[in-house]
Amino acid sequence: MKKVLGLVGFGASNMLLLLEMEKAKLLGRYDVLIFDECAKEKNDKTYCFWASPNDDIVQDFGSAVKKEWQRISTNVRSEGLNSLKYYMLESSTLYTRAKMVVSKYSSVRWIRQRVESIDKNARGVLICAESTDFKVDYVSDSRFSPMPVEDGLLLKQSFLGWKIRVDRPAFTEDTIMLMDFDLPQDESTQFMYVLPTTSEEALVELTRFGTELIDREQASIHLKAYLKGKGTFKLLDEEYGIIPMSIQQTPDQDNPSVWSMGSRAGMVKPSTGYAFRKMYEDARACAAQLSAEVPYLRVRSTSRFQYYDRLLITILKYRPKWGRPVFERLFSAMPYEQILLFLDEKSTLGWELRMFSKLPILKFLWAVVMDLYLKRKNQFTPVLPLLFSLVLWVFSFLDSALFMWGAVGVLGLLFLVIGIPHGALDGFDLRRRMSMGQFIFKYLIMMFFIAILWLVVPIVGLAVFLLFSAWHFGQTDFEEWGLSRASGAFVWGVNVLALMLMPHLNDVAAVLRPIGFDIPELWLHASWEGIWFATIVAAFIQSIVYRRPAMVLTIMAFCVSAQVGLWASFGVYFVMQHSLSGWRHLRTANQWTNVAMWKKSAPFTLGGVLVLAAAFVFRPDDLRSWFGYAAVLLSMISLPHVYFMSLAYFRKH
Ligand SMILES: Cc1cc2nc3c(=O)[nH]c(=O)nc-3n(C[C@H](O)[C@H](O)[C@H](O)COP(=O)(O)OP(=O)(O)OC[C@H]3O[C@@H](n4cnc5c(N)ncnc54)[C@H](O)[C@@H]3O)c2cc1C
Repeated sequence: MKKVLGLVGFGASNMLLLLEMEKAKLLGRYDVLIFDECAKEKNDKTYCFWASPNDDIVQDFGSAVKKEWQRISTNVRSEGLNSLKYYMLESSTLYTRAKMVVSKYSSVRWIRQRVESIDKNARGVLICAESTDFKVDYVSDSRFSPMPVEDGLLLKQSFLGWKIRVDRPAFTEDTIMLMDFDLPQDESTQFMYVLPTTSEEALVELTRFGTELIDREQASIHLKAYLKGKGTFKLLDEEYGIIPMSIQQTPDQDNPSVWSMGSRAGMVKPSTGYAFRKMYEDARACAAQLSAEVPYLRVRSTSRFQYYDRLLITILKYRPKWGRPVFERLFSAMPYEQILLFLDEKSTLGWELRMFSKLPILKFLWAVVMDLYLKRKNQFTPVLPLLFSLVLWVFSFLDSALFMWGAVGVLGLLFLVIGIPHGALDGFDLRRRMSMGQFIFKYLIMMFFIAILWLVVPIVGLAVFLLFSAWHFGQTDFEEWGLSRASGAFVWGVNVLALMLMPHLNDVAAVLRPIGFDIPELWLHASWEGIWFATIVAAFIQSIVYRRPAMVLTIMAFCVSAQVGLWASFGVYFVMQHSLSGWRHLRTANQWTNVAMWKKSAPFTLGGVLVLAAAFVFRPDDLRSWFGYAAVLLSMISLPHVYFMSLAYFRKH
């Protein structure tokens, strides 16, 4: 029986696969179902690659390439290539070829629908499209889904290309400008490409490597400035694109019958954004395995080139101003043909060492250290609360006011630097989907709701505050530890609150008293050690059930900070565990840098500080009482935060 192959997404990678399958005469042996709602009628991309004229890719696409060049310029110098040529292929050419194959074979069917999900069950693989489900044997999935990058090593290549015609000869037709950095860098690394098809026509493209995308308006300003002096030009076409430059890849193989393809499979070289040649070779390898009637199993090897990509992306991301000097030094020191072979990962180690010796070595050493730090810092984070609690405990024996205020100062500073800001960025993602007015309205409604509860039935206000705190603490910790059980998260959150509050009931009573709660004396004098011990045991059992050493570290941190005071238990957990995790989750989900997050959160952080400071209005004279009112106000700003973070985690899963 014929096997059925589903091509999910009909872009470059799956089109290349279809062409290779035709070449290998597989379309009589397989039924192919293509899923893509896009008709692929527009020439929306220009695929460039370099190769030797004898290479198979050139033999295959030779007649279709729009233009080829053998001379490259940068703003440093111009040089001819020896055995390589640089080729330009318009996406419309590829689309036309692939569509011709679709129309030629009755075994190939194009279903113009979006794929909602791909399910593997006992009966095989099910492609769930918009209106119907299709049972297939194999799936080649090219839907792009950027991986959340834990260490933040995601950079984006964004670009705006103008295809223009000038009114007089202005371009050197046989030479491409690959990287011209002679333009403002705008806190990123940006340059111009010029691909002339005649002396009057060219594709001129502004490209930015950076964490922030370049928008069309900004890019147009640079393009216009760059084209000044080239005469009057007519805009023939425009191409805007974003290519993620991530060293992390979507897991390749969900199961043996479903494999990723194209960008989804990490075919885009992180440091350059080129993918076409690699996708072509990957499609050939895939077709070869399909001809043996086995699903595609991609063999990947980790190589030193991945490490080089990592170092360059670290530089471009954290020191964008270094991009220009690094590239300029590279172009002035090494022959262009050899640089292209290096980018194809075909250089020798000896050549690479020679190249690095000519680059700004201190900048790369910095990248090595930064890379080590980025890799290790996540391992250090779970130990942080315990370490800080131990320091507090040891220093508490000194019984010094200086120490106390120093420690409170450190926690207070962290509260301002990540505690409040992590709360201020919660709904940022949602804010992009609603107007600022709607967002603030929702926030205020929730704050109002909890305020009314505190005023009318304070005990319910307190209970609701405790319940949603338990929910939120549990949810954030579970997210951090890669656990997803909602009920387990809530139980853990209850344990966290119990471990935090129970050893300090007198302090809790002191905080609650000014806002009208009196914890009965009987309770305060009761012996809580037994219950506290039971909570510790329960939390330990949970850590064994979920096999998470980080849970044990948290319990130990609470046991130690309990010896110091309520402020230490709350402060250490809240800023060093909870807020730090939330901050990292937001940073990863949105691919922000810390600085970008502080900038974005600044007005909301200020709002949060003002709300907490408002507690002084009630008791300007008494710091202890202030804590009571601050707790009420904190609950008011926390409820919307918990709601928005829950939505964000829910959407993520
Ligand atoms: C503007 C641009 C220019 C580029 N230029 C070059 C270049 O010059 N050289 C080079 O080497 N690389 C280049 N690249 C990088 C890379 O080669 C391209 O991104 C290439 O198109 C990637 O192929 P792909 O199949 O992974 O994705 P795509 O070509 O984007 O195809 C993915 C397809 O999946 C479909 N799809 C998405 N979701 C669903 C769904 N749920 N259900 C069904 N279908 C879905 C989309 O409609 C799309 O047709 C460029 C990228 C861009 C964005």
